Amino acid sequence: MNEILDFHTHCPVATSALISVDPREFDPRLGLCYSVGFHPWHGIDRLTDEDYELLDRCARHPQVLAIGETGMDHLRGAPLDCQREAFVRHLRLASLLGKPVVVHCVRAAQDILSARHQAALDSVPLVIHGMRSGERVARVLLDAGCYLSFGEHFNEAAVRLTPLDRILLETDESPVDINSIAAAVAHALDLPPEQLVAQVTANARKLLY
Ligand SMILES: [Zn+2]
Repeated sequence: MNEILDFHTHCPVATSALISVDPREFDPRLGLCYSVGFHPWHGIDRLTDEDYELLDRCARHPQVLAIGETGMDHLRGAPLDCQREAFVRHLRLASLLGKPVVVHCVRAAQDILSARHQAALDSVPLVIHGMRSGERVARVLLDAGCYLSFGEHFNEAAVRLTPLDRILLETDESPVDINSIAAAVAHALDLPPEQLVAQVTANARKLLY
């Protein structure tokens, strides 16, 4: 069992990390861990049934521990209705397989939560990745049970509002390494970095295994 510290990266060789890939590019290497999904920026209005069948097959692979990234973005990508439909398909698959979902959410917290609720999938765990929003949005997401994954850029007040057992960390596409990000978040929390790292790996373990 791998310990996951970096909950979301696109780096294809990252260890101690959950590597996010498009199912059409899924080519697992031994010993690495993955999440698979169709990113809302990348032509999700043109996905076919075959694409979703491929997603379903990849999602069942033993090295795939989560679904995503998927989600909704008000600033970029396909029309929001298409994004919502794709997001809900990912949620259904996650529910079926008992895996959490890595969520891309740009000015769409309310849309994400209401899509999950309308699909009667409130029990599917959501990890809001690249969390940059402030306290107000953090509160809404936390009240809905979401985990918040913080990266290079984060709002300090939102970090301090987040219970320790709901915090995750990520590099995403940043060149900054995960330990530096852990140090910055730990500083905002006034915690020793090693304590935060232990907590975050425990959070990831609980969610993924
Ligand atoms: Zn990403």
